[in-house]
Amino acid sequence: MIKGQCDCGAVAFTLPKVRESVTMCHCKQCRRMAGHFWASTHAPWDSLEFSNQSGLAWYRSSDWAKRGFCNRCGSTLFYRLNSEDGVGIAAGCLADPTGLKPGKHIFTKYKGDYYDIADDAPQIETY
Ligand SMILES: [Zn+2]
Ligand SMILES: [Zn+2]
Repeated sequence: MIKGQCDCGAVAFTLPKVRESVTMCHCKQCRRMAGHFWASTHAPWDSLEFSNQSGLAWYRSSDWAKRGFCNRCGSTLFYRLNSEDGVGIAAGCLADPTGLKPGKHIFTKYKGDYYDIADDAPQIETY
């Protein structure tokens, strides 16, 4: 069983399984929201079981997607397309060791100038 939570614990959940590969998005919106690039795995939304979701809030970040965060501590947790059954889950909120691997980098055209991509995962300029 995989555990995830925000920093303060007002959002805490378990789920049986997540995608092994982590997608890292370097777009400006992700970097603003997450403070750096957004690294996430993926799972069916229905597979998450919340032991606490009192802090869970959603920000409608575009016409097609929303982002879930903790409204007490500010942790960025989820990215979900309006039309999808799944959810992107921040790799950093999962308990270690995660066993996850770098999958790909997307929107690298918009990456910040203050860092280099240090792994060998494929880099896709846009999406
Ligand atoms: Zn929190
Ligand atoms: Zn992004």
